[in-house]
Amino acid sequence: MSTIPTVRRVVAGVCPSCDGTDFSAMSVPERGVTIAICAGCNLYINLRPTTATDAADAGVYDAGYHQQMGYDAEDARKIVTNGYRLQLLENLRAPGAFLDVGCSLGTFVEAARRRGWDAHGADISADAVEACRRRGLRATVGDMRHLDYPDNTFDVLNLRHVLEHDVQLWECLAELRRVLKPGGLLYLEVPCVDCIPVRRKHERYVKFWHDFHCYWFSKQSIRNILGQAGFTERPLPRFGRRGLANPRYLLWLAHRAVMQATERATYDVSVWEKTA
Ligand SMILES: [Zn+2]
Repeated sequence: MSTIPTVRRVVAGVCPSCDGTDFSAMSVPERGVTIAICAGCNLYINLRPTTATDAADAGVYDAGYHQQMGYDAEDARKIVTNGYRLQLLENLRAPGAFLDVGCSLGTFVEAARRRGWDAHGADISADAVEACRRRGLRATVGDMRHLDYPDNTFDVLNLRHVLEHDVQLWECLAELRRVLKPGGLLYLEVPCVDCIPVRRKHERYVKFWHDFHCYWFSKQSIRNILGQAGFTERPLPRFGRRGLANPRYLLWLAHRAVMQATERATYDVSVWEKTA
């Protein structure tokens, strides 16, 4: 395993989000994970951290992963709901150059292409990139720390359920920032421990605690981390002005708003602008 700064901090018992050193422990035997919980910011840290590269080298993200996680199912429906996510984002930014980081089999890239974005995907899995190319999408092999694009390329980066896969948070965010244009946006969705299911069941909410996740974020920790990494939060409108004539889009928005307002959603959604 590489020993670059974030890893050293985690191994040394220093919280990468708030520099706290006061932790409690939790284990989820069904998943084989032991977790340190930071008292300062409620960041949950996997005590056997891996880099996404190590995991990929070990074959974690080969074709079987995408099937096991169900990423190959309901392709058409995912293209529609990912289109809805973009429609909401378009209240902040008109379609431009777009990169889905951790694009898996390409449903988000496909949705972006159909909505007129200059759409690209990157994934650590060569199998996934090959699947994207077979459907005519532009995709490259790369992880969050090594994206095969020049500086200042993209207007929007999409990062859904990806940041938690690599222990090297700061290095990932620096690389993401590099390929974003000044003023570009990062759409971020990560597992969040502030939701009701986790607060109620904690370690007994077994399906939440994947052993290949390095972090489970609190809202506070994600805001600490992104703020320190050179991003400013931009409020994503709950409804916005675009596309409200489509009843299915309205239903999706309403369902999403209720899930978030009642903290039943087990993830946090935020949008960040690259600070100059
Ligand atoms: Zn902390």
